[in-house]
Amino acid sequence: MTAPSSERGAGTRTRVVLYTTGGTIASTDADGSGGVRPNLGGAALLGDTAGALGDIDLEVIGVRQVPSGELTLRDAIELSDRIRHDLDGGAAGVVIAQGTDTIEEFAFALDLLSTDGPVVVTGAMRHPGELGADGPANLAAAIRVASDPGMRGSGVTVVMNDEIHAARFVRKSDSSSPAAFASRTAGPIGRVVEGRVRRYVSPAVLARVIEPTRLSADVPAVALVTCALGDDGRVLERLLELGYAGVVVEGFGGGHVPGRLVGPLAALAGQVPVVLASRTGAGDTLETTYGYDGSERDLLGRGLISAGFLDGRKARVLLSLLLATGAPTAQVAAAFASLHRSATGLA
Ligand code: ASP
Repeated sequence: MTAPSSERGAGTRTRVVLYTTGGTIASTDADGSGGVRPNLGGAALLGDTAGALGDIDLEVIGVRQVPSGELTLRDAIELSDRIRHDLDGGAAGVVIAQGTDTIEEFAFALDLLSTDGPVVVTGAMRHPGELGADGPANLAAAIRVASDPGMRGSGVTVVMNDEIHAARFVRKSDSSSPAAFASRTAGPIGRVVEGRVRRYVSPAVLARVIEPTRLSADVPAVALVTCALGDDGRVLERLLELGYAGVVVEGFGGGHVPGRLVGPLAALAGQVPVVLASRTGAGDTLETTYGYDGSERDLLGRGLISAGFLDGRKARVLLSLLLATGAPTAQVAAAFASLHRSATGLA
């Protein structure tokens, strides 16, 4: 990532660093063509938020001006290096403003890569030119959360619509509502009320399963395949020749596929790590319940790796980063199991 702008606000008290990357929160119709684009960078995003900072000394750094679909895991790796440096250098917390379309994956990647200080990701569902634009309020709430020492140890969070969500659980669950973010497995961990942070729940501390110093420059490609009614699995048969280094399969319900997919999946799992998640978007992949062909017991018995509490998108983020550290399949399986145990309290 390059840093086109860096602007420091006034004051010397609590220091928070804000990285801006684009997204709806930064989007205007600057050329009058009719569609908005992410063309605001750095402090231009702050709008009314600047007046609500109180005792916070905000350093604003523009790193990208893109729709969030253009962000990559490499961007997350580079940003996490900067975040570690900021927190080691005395920042109370860090905020990332980005597009909401991929916030659930980008925030989780940062969660796997970052240290303890509050790291908060936010964005907007309504652009600055719309009635009820939510960017300034989301930013103000995110900055509050990032500056709160009580948030240390809670992992990376996503703050939208005054709710605080753990990055490991949150999903964008609506295409346009300002209340688009939900953590169906465990609920939000807190809220911002009257400008103050209320943390109701402390998420478990996640096991550190990625060693940042081992990450290679290239993040290997991992395919995410969602099962659908009547699926014939022909995509699975092409994945290796397309060069994928790993696969995440989102099965039905607790982690089930049509029986005809078992052969191709078992063959794939003999060559690359294949992770089994649920396409439902909440709850764990089952382990011990069903015994039919294509059930979770069948697939896990054939070498697939359980995603545990992670949904398919987040499992893909974890698998990609593990492969980027050169982890072989046995180490990938151990890392998924260890992350799951740390997040759920399962022995
Ligand atoms: N609709 C998106 C957003 O909320 C666009 C993007 O993700 O960049 O920011």
